[in-house]
Amino acid sequence: MPAAIDLQPFLSFAAVFALMLGAAVGSFITLITYRLPREEKIGLTRSRCPSCKATLTPRDLIPIFSWLMGRGTCRHCKTPISIRYPLTELATGLGTAAILLWQGELSAVSIALIGFWWVAVAMVVTDLEHYLLLDECQIALALFGLLYGWATGADLTDTLVAVLVGGVGSAGIKYIFLAVTGRDGLGWGDVKLFAVAGIWLGHALGFIPLLVFSGLLGVVMSLVWRIAGGGKFFPFGPAILAALAVLIFYSPATATFWQLYGENLSRLFSL
Ligand SMILES: [Zn+2]
Repeated sequence: MPAAIDLQPFLSFAAVFALMLGAAVGSFITLITYRLPREEKIGLTRSRCPSCKATLTPRDLIPIFSWLMGRGTCRHCKTPISIRYPLTELATGLGTAAILLWQGELSAVSIALIGFWWVAVAMVVTDLEHYLLLDECQIALALFGLLYGWATGADLTDTLVAVLVGGVGSAGIKYIFLAVTGRDGLGWGDVKLFAVAGIWLGHALGFIPLLVFSGLLGVVMSLVWRIAGGGKFFPFGPAILAALAVLIFYSPATATFWQLYGENLSRLFSL
């Protein structure tokens, strides 16, 4: 087991720090999810108000508070700023603090889980706004998954098979769905995400519950999305990520869990 720093003696301080760090990362996520799909440069240019082009000063860039202070409008031109910016910052901050409180230590596992949360928030935002799961996000999610697999002692061969099954399996479903319904229900971004999910699950059998669970969540989410007036088409990415999150967060030692699950399943079939 890799080394870990125990946070129990100063857990409340760590949680507040995690909340602030998470909110700041959430602010960065709103920046990259705005710029990357538009193929704008990151980091080299100062943030500007998209409406009046005023350069934003540190005062305008405090997560959540700047939005609240300006009552949801630009300080310079009073153009309304979407509530999705403070919501992204809040979700990132709360998730970071919750994971650290739950884990109670700074370890490779808690860092990997926090990384999962950060990338997942970014992917949900871009998929909802642009129907896009960026390759940059997929790579980041894969790297955090490798860290998680290493820390939980996942088997490398099992993990590789899981990636293959996730990718090939979902690509097969994509083509069957297209042949049967004539509609493209699954994007290539979703197929890549199913492959990356294999790294996190660490076992090929994880693909079955992930597929079933994300399918069910997708139906529920798209109904809620339609009722809330979000338009006809709901992207599948958020449902895959939510299902994957439940499967990962359900057990801190996912690798062992799938091993047992696999053993039980093979025992069932050999009867
Ligand atoms: Zn403005």
